Amino acid sequence: MAKTTSAAKFVYFFGGGKADGNESMKNLLGGKGANLAEMAGHPNLRLPVPPGFTITTEVCTWYYQNNKTFPQVLQKQVAESIHRMEKLTGKTFGDITNPLLVSVRSGARKSMPGMMETILNVGLNEQTIKGLIARSGDERFAYDAYRRLIMMYADVVMEKAAGIEPKNGKGIRKLLDEKLEKVKQSKGYFSDTDLTVGDLKALVKEYKATVLKVLGKAFPEDPNEQLWGGIGAVFASWNGRRAIEYRRIEKIPDDWGTAVNIQAMVFGNMGNDSATGVAFTRNPGNGENRFYGEYLVNAQGEDVVAGIRTPAPVNEYSKNPQSEHLPTLEKRMPQLYKELYTYQKRLEKHYKDMQDIEFTIEKGTLYMLQCRVGKRNGIAAVRMATEMYSEKLIDIHTAIKRVAPNQLIELLLPMIDPKAEQVNPVIAKGLPAGPGGAKGRVVFSSAEAVEWAHRGEKVVLVREETSPEDVDGMHKSQAILTTKGGMTSHAALVARGWGKCCIVGCGDIEIHQENKTFRANGTLIKEGDWITLNGTKGFVYEGSLPLVDIDLDKNQSYNDLMKLVSKVKVMAVRTNAETPHDAEQGLRFGAEGIGLFRTEHMFYGENSEQPLFLLRKMIVSKTAKERKTALNDLFVFVKKDIKATLEVMKGYPVTIRLLDPPLHEFVPHDSAKLHELSRELGISMSLLRRRVLALHENNPMLGHRGVRLGISYPEITEMQVRAIFEATAELLKDGKKAFSEIMVPVTCTVNELTHQKKIVDRVYKEVCENKGLAAIPYLYGTMIEIPRAAIKADHMAEVADFFSFGTNDLTQMSFGFSRDDIGGFLPVYLDEKLLHDDPFQTIDQEGVGLLIRMGTEKGRKTKPHLKVGICGEHGGDAESVKFCHRIGMNYVSCSPFRVPIARLAAAHAAIEDAETSAKNKSKPALPAPTNGKVSKKHRLAIS
Ligand code: PEP
Ligand code: MG
Repeated sequence: MAKTTSAAKFVYFFGGGKADGNESMKNLLGGKGANLAEMAGHPNLRLPVPPGFTITTEVCTWYYQNNKTFPQVLQKQVAESIHRMEKLTGKTFGDITNPLLVSVRSGARKSMPGMMETILNVGLNEQTIKGLIARSGDERFAYDAYRRLIMMYADVVMEKAAGIEPKNGKGIRKLLDEKLEKVKQSKGYFSDTDLTVGDLKALVKEYKATVLKVLGKAFPEDPNEQLWGGIGAVFASWNGRRAIEYRRIEKIPDDWGTAVNIQAMVFGNMGNDSATGVAFTRNPGNGENRFYGEYLVNAQGEDVVAGIRTPAPVNEYSKNPQSEHLPTLEKRMPQLYKELYTYQKRLEKHYKDMQDIEFTIEKGTLYMLQCRVGKRNGIAAVRMATEMYSEKLIDIHTAIKRVAPNQLIELLLPMIDPKAEQVNPVIAKGLPAGPGGAKGRVVFSSAEAVEWAHRGEKVVLVREETSPEDVDGMHKSQAILTTKGGMTSHAALVARGWGKCCIVGCGDIEIHQENKTFRANGTLIKEGDWITLNGTKGFVYEGSLPLVDIDLDKNQSYNDLMKLVSKVKVMAVRTNAETPHDAEQGLRFGAEGIGLFRTEHMFYGENSEQPLFLLRKMIVSKTAKERKTALNDLFVFVKKDIKATLEVMKGYPVTIRLLDPPLHEFVPHDSAKLHELSRELGISMSLLRRRVLALHENNPMLGHRGVRLGISYPEITEMQVRAIFEATAELLKDGKKAFSEIMVPVTCTVNELTHQKKIVDRVYKEVCENKGLAAIPYLYGTMIEIPRAAIKADHMAEVADFFSFGTNDLTQMSFGFSRDDIGGFLPVYLDEKLLHDDPFQTIDQEGVGLLIRMGTEKGRKTKPHLKVGICGEHGGDAESVKFCHRIGMNYVSCSPFRVPIARLAAAHAAIEDAETSAKNKSKPALPAPTNGKVSKKHRLAIS
């Protein structure tokens, strides 16, 4: 619980070139508050920030722990700060001649764009408005500010924070909005700026009456009541539906709380010498090192983000097809542009990262309202990180940490097949807000997007503009398409954060919400129709166009980043691959070997007809002779596949797992196949049916699979081992490099390993002799995928040269959750927070992870240089990769497309490790780490 003594500091002031806080205090002041303090008070910056103060996140915690009340001392601290603001601005809060008006905004540790509430113009009432009119000389502006305050206050404080459920789902904001639209329509106005003083005055009256009627309470006239109502509402919005949903998606802890920022208002809507805008120190769409931004003349900050008017570009570089005819800020207000340009440069140099800036120009004076680290998509993140490193703005560790492993997925995103783009007409063009190609069926509301996606449909959400209410539907959609808004609109911002394909400001499209259609230059698209988006160019196509993978080799920034990664990373990354094509793919992505070659995969897919038939023949064979014949035929295919892959891997280790087929998946069931088999085996159909029936298992996942097959039928192991040794020997004799690792699956006792090793040793000798080789280099090891094997790892290591944790099965058997059926109950577990993550995606570090750690440690007790890796799906999950590094694994292995992600995650882990060691070194009082960590040398001890 927060301290409540009068000494407790709950309020941090900034302004007048000074600040109580600074950028390092994000946990206490939230991101916005900490940055306002830094911009206002840091000697390198001292930017023109309107004065204000931040109420700490501790107060938010207090508020929720104390029945939504505030600590007593807060009132005094707020009053003192208001007084300081009054002194600096020369205005007085609640004064009728020169009133100070303030904004009340949220600000969590991590930015949650638009998810919480903001109230502007607090302090206006029937009396103070007179002062505002007198000072600004603009009655229209004053009434416009007033009607905005009433709308925001009624919506945020009087309805949402009060927990009032709107009737028929129509909230007060919507009702008031409709009143405004009605005036516009009846008078034939095109935009809000056409409203006259008379219209606005009448609207203020109407708004107040509506608020009283609908919410049963009058809009408060008292500025202090407005202020405290606003503060409470911002805290309450931390637990609003949208904010909770966003935190769930972004994994932001619920107990962080938000700060509240109260700041003197400055107005971008005081006429044509006023403006407001959003800008980025580098282009957030592609990472280019160019100042990029948008602005609106005579507008309030919300207007740019809300996408109501198409914003103008700040400079030539920021022009796009929608805005190219609009005058740039550089042209229109050259002096102010120059000032802004200098500030943005100063900010980036100071923060050493791309900044997202909000600014306002009030009657020819520039104010900086906010700066924060700008969100960027994966492509931009990679480019900015590597270029800032080249510019010597950041060091290698910072550059690597700037790219989240999962952001690389965007670089691997499919694009629309260029051939298809050539022959299909573009039906509409918009702004390319989120790159990549994506397709789906059209839906027109967030709720529908959620519902359709739930049914397994791929959808594209098409909206005029999105608001924070749409966040769930946006998340569930393949792509987002809006008809309004610019590159800094809500949709663009959120999509960019997620790396989702997104086109905004697509003015070619006209949505007819009532009959769920849209028209794009003559093409009619109905709900449920397929469309395809090119988010890199901003093109919309009718229908479902094919998507293709992009060519990473041509991405210079990506290659630069991977070079840095290779310098830092300690743990090796391999790929799971069973075809030469996948192996090549893995190598291109930087794989340093194959960690899992699943032999049985040659029985799926292309060209698998014949080997599959032979496998089936082997499975239903009853006598050793029958089986031998089938195996002999199968041998040719197995050896060919293994040899081709070994050759591609050019001496990198290739872990070949002995057959682990879930037999039931391979037994034929259709009668044509059964007939063919019976003919081939020379047995009757009824006998064959009996054999197939006898193979039936009630629980095949725990049945006759893995090593059990090799124990029951040693000839199966023999055939595979022979294929491996012969393939390796032939490549070596041809002067090529080849190195295989024989891996025994589903083991639970060392006796199984010993049993199979005898076969391996015998065949090894035979092949060496036959091929005239003194030795064929190889390793013999096992998967650890049964809990007992992890528990008995010290014994397993007596025979095994390496372990590879099969975390798919290990998770299945540790939790007792079927890997094939978890979908039936996992969503409830996640919703109820019984589990934080799907354990089949991210290693359950405290349970399954304990087994892995113990298995590794016990194994290495027996064999200090035991090679340890992982080949379950977790090998491509960033958090799991970091865990594997921490426990000292030699390598992780994952599907080819996850290799870059795993490499980057491994580099992150190595950096975190270095940072922890550096910290520990500076604190010599701490005991030496006893967590069984293995040195870099040890990790790299790959035979
Ligand atoms: C595992 O169990 O983690 C594994 C890699 O093997 P499979 O998925 O083939 O059972
Ligand atoms: Mg397995």
